[in-house]
Amino acid sequence: MTEFAGNLDFPSWPQYGDAERTGLIRALEQGQWWRMDGREVDTFEAEFADYHGSAHALAVTNGTHALELALEVMGVRGGDEVIVPAFTFISSSQAAQRLGAVAVPVDVDLDTYNIDPARAAQAITERTKAIMPVHMAGLVADMDALGKLSADSGVPLVQDAAHAHGARWRGTRIGEFGTIAALSFQNGKLMTAGEGGAVLFPDAESYELGFLRHSCGRPREDRTYRHRTSGSNFRLNEFSASVLRAQLARLDGQIDTREERWPVLSRLLADIPGVVPQQVDDRADRNPHYMAMFRVPGLTEERRNALVDDLIARGLPAFAAFRAVYRTDAFWEHSSPDETAEEIALRCPNSELINSEGIWLHHRTLLGTERQMHDIAAVVAEAVAHL
Ligand SMILES: *Cc1c(COP(=O)(O)O)cnc(C)c1O
Repeated sequence: MTEFAGNLDFPSWPQYGDAERTGLIRALEQGQWWRMDGREVDTFEAEFADYHGSAHALAVTNGTHALELALEVMGVRGGDEVIVPAFTFISSSQAAQRLGAVAVPVDVDLDTYNIDPARAAQAITERTKAIMPVHMAGLVADMDALGKLSADSGVPLVQDAAHAHGARWRGTRIGEFGTIAALSFQNGKLMTAGEGGAVLFPDAESYELGFLRHSCGRPREDRTYRHRTSGSNFRLNEFSASVLRAQLARLDGQIDTREERWPVLSRLLADIPGVVPQQVDDRADRNPHYMAMFRVPGLTEERRNALVDDLIARGLPAFAAFRAVYRTDAFWEHSSPDETAEEIALRCPNSELINSEGIWLHHRTLLGTERQMHDIAAVVAEAVAHL
């Protein structure tokens, strides 16, 4: 094999331009920088809800708080159980645990890395208050099977859509499923203000409760400190919202580019002996591609980490996959399932594999040229050959 001689000069992230610049000045010159007296957060919420086909959007401080607020509005309390995928970023389980609930990890599908609806069904008990699919790397989870499970069991879904801005399932936008959804605007996410988050609500009642709880339980027009519910301060500021309005306007064009690039890259990756890319599901018919993910089956965690280091040394923005949530100390600090980590690992074999074999590339690689998809594959092939 010839040595790689391509160009790994991918677009940088985050992207910004005059729209963000003028937005920030507009927020500044309002002279009022919190949402209660400004227009940026209100306007962003209306635009974001409309874009996702949701009745209401509430902007919040970050995606982790968005999940906490979502679960709180759904009535999750101490001692309840929330079913989460075992393979996800820790906020999915941590949000439930912060409310005193037990996060119950279940296994994911080895092809899509999304929660396995049959495993979720097996984990339902009389204490289960929510099932939280995570749309891994932008690939919408099997909402047909999960919707049926929810209808049959009476357990509501809450979408962790931190990777899924603009995603669709059989043409249905993530705001159109009749469930609450939580999103993140952290620096690496598909639209960003450095930090930030949003909750999509399907109805006015849950939105009103969400608004109260995200603002110390205080009604919008209150002047006499009659806090109606418990809560916290999860309010987003006006500067962030002005940037997010500009970022939302960029999103569809960026998704279009990544939707063109991933089929090219995944085919090239699949041709490399020992590399298995994340599979798509044709029903997830708009995938914003938050990560370009693949596995190298047979690797231990140590060899995977060495491979990631090698990919970085060769110029790729590569990362190790998330650690399965039950394989962190954090998970066991809170009320946890009546099982040991080893017992959970035994019933989550796919999460175990992705945990140790999984690698992802930053989505800015998918904003590169088609030629660069070939360059990425050439680098991965060389690195894997040198394992
Ligand atoms: C990023 C992320 C979150 C949390 O979002 P923050 O804004 O970083 O708090 C939640 N869930 C998943 C799956 C994520 O990747």
